[in-house]
Amino acid sequence: MLIHQLPLDAAFATLRSVPAGLTHAEAAARWHEFGPNRIEPLAPTPLAVRFLRQFTHLFAILLWVAALLALIANRWMPGQGMATLAAAIVAVIVINGAFSFWQEYRAEETMSALQRLLPHQVRTLRNGATVVLASEDVVPGDVIFLTAGDDVPADCRLVEGFGVRVSNATVTGEARPVSRDAHPSADPDLLRSRNVLLAGTSVTSGEAKALVFATGMHTAFGRIAHLTQTTIDPPSPLQKEIAALSRVLAALAITIGLVVFVIGRFIGLSTSVSVVFAIGIIVANVPEGLLPTVTLAMALAARRMARRNTLVRHLPSVETLGCASVICTDKTGTLTQNRMEIQSLYADGVFVDPHAAETAAFAASHRHLLECAACCHDLKYAGEGGHSQWIGDPMELALARMARTALGDTAGFVRIDEIPFESERKRLVTLHRVAGEPVAFVKGAPEAVLSRANRIDVDGGAVALRLEQREAFGEAATVMADRGLRVLALAYRALPANYVLADAEQDLVVTGLVGFEDPPRPEVPAAVHRCREAGIKIVMATGDHPHTAVAVAREIGLVQGTAPTLLTGDDISRMSDTQLQLALDAPEIVCARVTAEQKLRIVKAFQRKRHIVAVTGDGVNDAPALRAADIGIAMGISGTDVAREASDLVLLDDNFASIVNAVEEGRTVFENIRKFLTYILTSNVPELVPYLAFAFARVPLALTVIQILAVDLGTDMVPALGLGAEAPDTRVMQRPPRTRHDRLLTAGLLVRAYLFLGAFQAVAAMAAFFFVLAGSGWHRGQEVSVTDVLYRQATTACLTAIVLMQVVNVHLCRSRRTSIVSRPFFGNSLITAGIVAEVGLILAINYTAVGNAVFGTAAIGYEAWLVVVPFAVAMLVLDEARKAFVRRRERKTLEGRGPASVEEIAATRP
Ligand code: ADP
Ligand code: MG
Repeated sequence: MLIHQLPLDAAFATLRSVPAGLTHAEAAARWHEFGPNRIEPLAPTPLAVRFLRQFTHLFAILLWVAALLALIANRWMPGQGMATLAAAIVAVIVINGAFSFWQEYRAEETMSALQRLLPHQVRTLRNGATVVLASEDVVPGDVIFLTAGDDVPADCRLVEGFGVRVSNATVTGEARPVSRDAHPSADPDLLRSRNVLLAGTSVTSGEAKALVFATGMHTAFGRIAHLTQTTIDPPSPLQKEIAALSRVLAALAITIGLVVFVIGRFIGLSTSVSVVFAIGIIVANVPEGLLPTVTLAMALAARRMARRNTLVRHLPSVETLGCASVICTDKTGTLTQNRMEIQSLYADGVFVDPHAAETAAFAASHRHLLECAACCHDLKYAGEGGHSQWIGDPMELALARMARTALGDTAGFVRIDEIPFESERKRLVTLHRVAGEPVAFVKGAPEAVLSRANRIDVDGGAVALRLEQREAFGEAATVMADRGLRVLALAYRALPANYVLADAEQDLVVTGLVGFEDPPRPEVPAAVHRCREAGIKIVMATGDHPHTAVAVAREIGLVQGTAPTLLTGDDISRMSDTQLQLALDAPEIVCARVTAEQKLRIVKAFQRKRHIVAVTGDGVNDAPALRAADIGIAMGISGTDVAREASDLVLLDDNFASIVNAVEEGRTVFENIRKFLTYILTSNVPELVPYLAFAFARVPLALTVIQILAVDLGTDMVPALGLGAEAPDTRVMQRPPRTRHDRLLTAGLLVRAYLFLGAFQAVAAMAAFFFVLAGSGWHRGQEVSVTDVLYRQATTACLTAIVLMQVVNVHLCRSRRTSIVSRPFFGNSLITAGIVAEVGLILAINYTAVGNAVFGTAAIGYEAWLVVVPFAVAMLVLDEARKAFVRRRERKTLEGRGPASVEEIAATRP
């Protein structure tokens, strides 16, 4: 018979296991026999294919065309170095492709290293004690515990289950959760069997104890995994942006090439010259270093974020974060510490000092309240030997601690069933047998418990709950909530022997209220303030009481006005989408008693208002909202596996302040990409101008194609990477968020790079060229020979000038708006290293025999170096002046209207 058809004891026997779990020695032996419990990932795309892809993207194709042109030219005019040029261009493609591939590979390594920071853990019984294991260490025969939100780590048979439902979507495609129980099943089919939990699925509700019968590739999921592992990630906004950018730059290269070619023919240039020309223009315009630099910038940001407790699950979401204009956040644990100290107790119509609850006198008259506190929880006792401790919800821990002190042992209460906590129902019901009699304990939100109570506990007896007592309870709850306390009501019911489960939450006897203090995290008020400055709206969406929510919001500065907009779940459910959208215009919004479904509606409403929404979540129910959000953020500590898998980002410390830091990183990535774009586009101009001058002004070609490559792929490379690693600008969080429609490549950027910085460099480069040429008596119209040392020296001077101008330029590009003195000069070690490499390379090109041979150069004198100085100084001074002007204008606009409001920004979105 199959394992799910057997009675439980037989199922244990066939797996040679016992309900207390395997021994450590046996588990270790099985681990060696069956291997680690993991699905061996099939590389989605073979490495070779991914390697080849680096040679087929648009820029690579352009370079191939250039190489081909050189080959053709070689046919026509052999011996002119055209073959060498073709070989050089191919070498460039190969080096560049290999470098990009390496960057991408390293970025992926970083990502998987980051994922390993979040091991998937399973509570497992070994030797009768609960231990927390990595899911890879689970072996057949292990007994494991699962609760709502957990991923099922292996194929297992239920041993015990309370209200277990699972979502088998990953295996069967069926999205609706199905319920599961421990009884033997007659169905031979594993998928349909009601007592089987399959690896790769997840528990959506309930509590389960299960016996593992298959692990790793032996699971049903492992067997089909290779069929399903072909998911292709859709391109991210940044990838699309880069693709669009590539097209623009390619079109630019081709257009300039063609136009100049046609004009060149028109004014009578020979074909061979025109071909050299086309090659030069194409090579000059392709930003060879762009792609690897983008990858590097993102990977570095992901690594920095990890250091600040934020784990990126998809690399491109780093950059999406930078556009976030609304953050929809949980309260408990994210804005607050989730410490949960009992601050207030209400029983018998009076507030009692919580410390008094630990005395024998209180215990005598409030036995039921304490029993409920002791029993009604989902805490687990885990660990081994002397290290065992209770783990779970801090609120339940506090209650249990209080009850244990007063009551002593509650081992006599044997748990027989439960109705699990769900944030929709807002209460937890557990059923126990005490001396043979069934009893139910209920705890939950005051209204969720009081609405089901008709009696009140007085001195251990149950008397009818009068209307004024019910109202008094409501008032007491409000008093606690106004102090920012989280309030729970406790109740019980002695059940008849023939009870049904639903009876456990009817006719309850209410025993009292408990108020928990949950102080805000100390970093949160500052983070809230930074969001305000950054034009990001924060909306608190909590399942907690409205008064508690507002009190906490006020404490952390989220609410400053006297009349914040309070939206309760009921309000939202009564609103149409239109009404909801309008309601969300309010400046200060607190959403309380909202369900996960309503949270999803809030997210969608903001998105229809063209906001880019980041949402936090931890529970199973939060998964749809996390997926729908532009950036889903799951909690690393309190979050469930299901929530994590639906998210783009995981907060290792559950801390709201980490989100704000991550937004800063996201914005910085975008800024940094712009910085190095400016930098590498700038040098395209001095590379292009020699060709234009050659064609239209009949001056000798000041820069050869190989020399262009020496800049684009040699000297420019490391400094550009360095710009990708620049630290955030101090002001990056004082500007409104960028919209999704903001381009990387703006007219402003192009003007600055091409017409301003680039123009200076071109003038400097041509000046150096003519300085050397003219110094030896050359006059206009005179032919020069390519092999002439003088000509070679002149081109070397041109190349040297470009490199020197770029050394200055990299410092100008470190910020778009702050002065270069505002950043420590050696603050970015990659840039410093880049400059050293850059200068070293140009010295080698100048003064070594190999450099001379490869690049067709000849050593120049020091005066040729000095020609650059006035141009460099002029570029520096003018750019500083421009920056000062930009800063003044920014200050004026900021003063004029205060921090940008989100609505203003939204209004400017197309
Ligand atoms: P949030 O985490 O946003 O504060 P939850 O959905 O976790 O909201 O909780 C909603 C309400 O359910 C809480 O305000 C509380 O009254 C109640 N509640 C929360 N956790 C428990 C629990 N473990 N047992 C019983 N009731 C709970
Ligand atoms: Mg919660």
